Amino acid sequence: MLPLDPQADIGRRAWVTCPNCRDHRGCAPCEERRRCTDHWRYLLSNTGSLLHLQCPTCTHVWDHETGFGATRARRHRTVTGRRRPD
Ligand SMILES: [Zn+2]
Ligand SMILES: [Zn+2]
Repeated sequence: MLPLDPQADIGRRAWVTCPNCRDHRGCAPCEERRRCTDHWRYLLSNTGSLLHLQCPTCTHVWDHETGFGATRARRHRTVTGRRRPD
């Protein structure tokens, strides 16, 4: 296991599911994508919409593309601006 990054700060958290330990599975608030008090990640840093995260459960470090507010979305995922033609 990696040590916690010195930038890890409990005051900066992100609610993203961990791709390594998937500790959110079977957790009701997580599966409803609400802010769970148990399953959150340290937000080490971010570059635009790309978040650099560390999981406090398994200390896995990864980057997560939120796709919000930037033009670097890799996958075509339209979450915002859903408008009907009329
Ligand atoms: Zn994890
Ligand atoms: Zn949870």
